[in-house]
Amino acid sequence: MIKLDFITSLNMTDQELYEKARLYGQNALLWRQKFTGLLPEVNRRRLHERHGFGSIFEFAYKLAGLSEQQVKNALNLEASFSDKPMLKALLENGQVSVNKLVRVQSVVTAENEEFWANQAQVLSKTALETLVRDERVASKPKVLPGQDLHLSEEVTARLQELQSKGIDLDTLLTEFLDQREGKIAEEKEAISEDLSRARSRHVPVRIQRIIRKVHGSKCSIQTCHRPAEQLHHTQTFGLSHRHDPHYLAPLCKAHHQIVHTINLKVQEKRSPVALL
Ligand SMILES: [Zn+2]
Ligand SMILES: [Zn+2]
Repeated sequence: MIKLDFITSLNMTDQELYEKARLYGQNALLWRQKFTGLLPEVNRRRLHERHGFGSIFEFAYKLAGLSEQQVKNALNLEASFSDKPMLKALLENGQVSVNKLVRVQSVVTAENEEFWANQAQVLSKTALETLVRDERVASKPKVLPGQDLHLSEEVTARLQELQSKGIDLDTLLTEFLDQREGKIAEEKEAISEDLSRARSRHVPVRIQRIIRKVHGSKCSIQTCHRPAEQLHHTQTFGLSHRHDPHYLAPLCKAHHQIVHTINLKVQEKRSPVALL
């Protein structure tokens, strides 16, 4: 039988071989997840002792190759989910990985567990991590860190000169910033008025440029410092067929996934995002 398998994989195309490896890998992870879910109950019954294993760690390592840390995480989670039946079920049925649940653990309460149980099932690990971090930041009082301004010597000298003449820099810079914002708003308006039905999802360069003026190069979620990788249509493109700059937001990959996954109602309630 082993020989037969060997021959089949030899005959496979690259694509077939890759698909098969992916499928087996996914299944391996899934079954290991299910195994992990059983551990708290095995431990409670001291089942490992009755079958000659020195500890629950040895049991998990020998049967499924789990590390000591993975076992500890599973047992910890189970204890901390004692008042969170949905998450407890996700853990015990092996529906969600311990890796994801560990992340959720730091923000979940008995009141919001339904939200997190849903997110843990639909989001990728990275996206979930990002959402958890957003939640932590959102629940803290907002203090903007005093970011250093990076001004060149020339600009600093020119501003100092104006200040020495008694010109108020705050007023001056406010005027300048207001003007800039006004100009951008006009430009956006002009583009928006002149838009025709877009044939492709690709956002034209001149529209990308104005978005860059508004948002710079970072993800437009306030608390995120990652570079923007994708332009999100806040009005579903499939319906509007327009690249209206008023409804475009640059996002990093993780936030883009989150925005598409969170259902709108939850999003409004939490309003983590001021999109344009
Ligand atoms: Zn999008
Ligand atoms: Zn982001």
